[in-house]
Amino acid sequence: MKRIILMLALLFSLAMRVGESGAPISGTRVQFRVSITFDDGYVSAYRASSILDKAGVKATFFIISRCVGQPNYMTREEVMRLAAEGHEIGSHTRNHPHLRRLSLARQESEIGGSLKDFSEWGLRPTSFAYPFGQYNDNSFIALKDAGFTAARTTDAYKNNTNPYLLSGYTVNSKTKLKDIITAIQNAQRNGKWLIIVFHRVDERFDNPINTKHEIIQGLVDYLVQNKVKVVTIGQRATSK
Ligand SMILES: [Zn+2]
Repeated sequence: MKRIILMLALLFSLAMRVGESGAPISGTRVQFRVSITFDDGYVSAYRASSILDKAGVKATFFIISRCVGQPNYMTREEVMRLAAEGHEIGSHTRNHPHLRRLSLARQESEIGGSLKDFSEWGLRPTSFAYPFGQYNDNSFIALKDAGFTAARTTDAYKNNTNPYLLSGYTVNSKTKLKDIITAIQNAQRNGKWLIIVFHRVDERFDNPINTKHEIIQGLVDYLVQNKVKVVTIGQRATSK
């Protein structure tokens, strides 16, 4: 009986936690953590995920639901394989619009609508990334209504206490491994959560959002060697 009561208490506390979507992560002690995210769902990022899998590192992949299966983007099978491997599948809207330019109704269609697309595959994303890093107050309403618990921007560092305004450190084609390591070391020194943003991997090197796979490999090696706690956005957003 005691065990059943304990179980119920645990379930209740979990339900409470889910119900807190959109609430500030204020009860969270700020702690040094690193998250690795890939935006857009490029097939090149899927290929790079093997680097993470060999090291047991989990990332968050923000997928544009209506781009899945298009040229250069992951197929549905690839998205599902990432999920099966333990990576987090987050939403990056249906069509990657400039949300700020859309009415609330159209933002809801892009944000909540993407959730509908994913749910048809049995996925239930709770994390979101803003296309072009753009948002406005209506975006927060649409996110909350859809039940998202976290959203990542591409804004420079804030305090990450607002779960819908998580900052992102964008890696571009000019970023060097030592720049990323410096950002990690700064976050470590200050007890902060660093969210790293990648897009394409090993594609055309003149593409400003391309990263060489050596950089991903070097990053993963650094994280493993230094026993850095790597979490997905969903893990961190719901942890206390
Ligand atoms: Zn994007």
